[in-house]
Amino acid sequence: MNDTITFQSLRDANLERHKEWAKGNDLPLSFRGVELAGEVGEACNELKKIERKRLGLVGGKEDLDGLQQELADVLICVDLIAMDLGIDLAAAVRDKFNATSEKYELSTRL
Ligand SMILES: [Mg+2]
Repeated sequence: MNDTITFQSLRDANLERHKEWAKGNDLPLSFRGVELAGEVGEACNELKKIERKRLGLVGGKEDLDGLQQELADVLICVDLIAMDLGIDLAAAVRDKFNATSEKYELSTRL
């Protein structure tokens, strides 16, 4: 296991695990979309609990480990969609980040 994760190492691991998980079958994009929505929902649920705690409401819990895990799931699912469609996610993130900076006249670029 390598501590340094890159877009490419995530993609390589997703490709390898997909072979085990789906046993060589392609999964429909609708499955990938529902999978991503589920993970975003799980992340939002963790945020809800954190906000409940900060607002002093019952049912609050500041579980940063739980949020961390769900954010990781979201990122993994995003890469799975990009993988299925042959999208270079690193290039897409760079281009979009820079386009947004340019749009709002901010100097930070990737
Ligand atoms: Mg999850």
